[in-house]
Amino acid sequence: MSLEKGMLIVLSGPSGVGKGTVRKAMLQDSNIKFEYSVSMTTRNIRPGEKDGVDYFFSSKESFEAEIANGGMLEYAKYVDNYYGTPLRRVQETLANGTDVFLEIEVNGAMQVREKMPDGVFIFLTPPDLASLRSRITGRGSEDQTTIDKRMEKARQEIKMMSNYDYAVVNDEVSLAVKRIEQIIKSEHLRVPRVIGSYYKMIGD
Ligand code: 5GP
Repeated sequence: MSLEKGMLIVLSGPSGVGKGTVRKAMLQDSNIKFEYSVSMTTRNIRPGEKDGVDYFFSSKESFEAEIANGGMLEYAKYVDNYYGTPLRRVQETLANGTDVFLEIEVNGAMQVREKMPDGVFIFLTPPDLASLRSRITGRGSEDQTTIDKRMEKARQEIKMMSNYDYAVVNDEVSLAVKRIEQIIKSEHLRVPRVIGSYYKMIGD
């Protein structure tokens, strides 16, 4: 059994760019093994979502208690709701040698960058803003004011791309998945990740 630590992969991108679709497509791809970190949120559950699968849906009070207890790797307020990554599961999974995949917005990602700088930070971009708006509108779950707020947020988020290691255009889900898989495979081959096992082999 390999005791190599797992790699932390962080995917960000404006709301509606298709992060969830890309992540689900990646989970179905047997080529790449990772555990998706289920976030906690105070936002309302959407039709088709499952508690504990898409998110841990929580009250504002329990979310704030979790922050106070140091239970969050990162958290952010996004369009009036809290979103955050429960810390313990991430630590345990990485320690077991399994990659962990976070799908989070940019402010949270920057907190993770501070705490876990050897993570791989990937920014998923829309081909253009018009296609982003039509995706958000097409989801049908948000009213006009919320859509406008999310579009404004998207503009701000795209500016943050410079803080990431990789940019992946989501023009087509299957292509975006392939690009991310290439990144993950290459990152696993970086010398700082593999050198430890070679030192063991040569008895240094
Ligand atoms: P949505 O409401 O569309 O599911 O998510 C809104 C935004 O919050 C998305 O950009 C999503 O990636 C982000 N998000 C989801 N979970 C987390 C989390 O745990 N932490 C942070 N910082 N953002 C998250």
